[in-house]
Amino acid sequence: MQSKNKKAPTSSERIHIARIKGMDCVVCGASGPSECHEINQGQWFTSMPLCPDCHRGNLNGIHGQKRIWAVKKMDELAALNQTIETLLNDNCIL
Ligand SMILES: [Zn+2]
Ligand SMILES: [Zn+2]
Repeated sequence: MQSKNKKAPTSSERIHIARIKGMDCVVCGASGPSECHEINQGQWFTSMPLCPDCHRGNLNGIHGQKRIWAVKKMDELAALNQTIETLLNDNCIL
């Protein structure tokens, strides 16, 4: 799913990515650091923290069969909504 010649993130994007990766998995709550999943490639401000299983797991991952996403009744926008709320509650966005 990763494109090979992705544009390098800008400095503000890198700060955001670091915050995302420091968060717990937004789907199952596994404690971070997490992987950063972009809904659309290269659009980092709509990315979210996922554990390896919820991200790339064959059964559970968003790039796999999305089983845990179905169990939690979540899609990418629901996960993004939760991610933004957590960022604001943690006072990470100032
Ligand atoms: Zn997870
Ligand atoms: Zn991903």
